[in-house]
Amino acid sequence: MTLTKECRGCGRELPATREYFSRNHPERGGMSLASRCKACNAERSRQWYATAEGARRRARRNPGAVTIQAAFAQWSTGKHQHWIA
Ligand SMILES: [Zn+2]
Repeated sequence: MTLTKECRGCGRELPATREYFSRNHPERGGMSLASRCKACNAERSRQWYATAEGARRRARRNPGAVTIQAAFAQWSTGKHQHWIA
């Protein structure tokens, strides 16, 4: 018998494995599974980061992160130097 877990996001009953649920706080060594399935988590963060507030908070939490615009600016400045035809 497989253990199942009900997703708090979509309400589906899914196998309680890491295939369907990501671990809570893996960076802290947490072993419990997240309350939402991977699909719900992905959808939730996609919506959240699409908002201006989400982008601001992410930047604050991760100040070293390179934004897409900054990465592109760097790439377009650098490409003349590193361009290989
Ligand atoms: Zn779900």
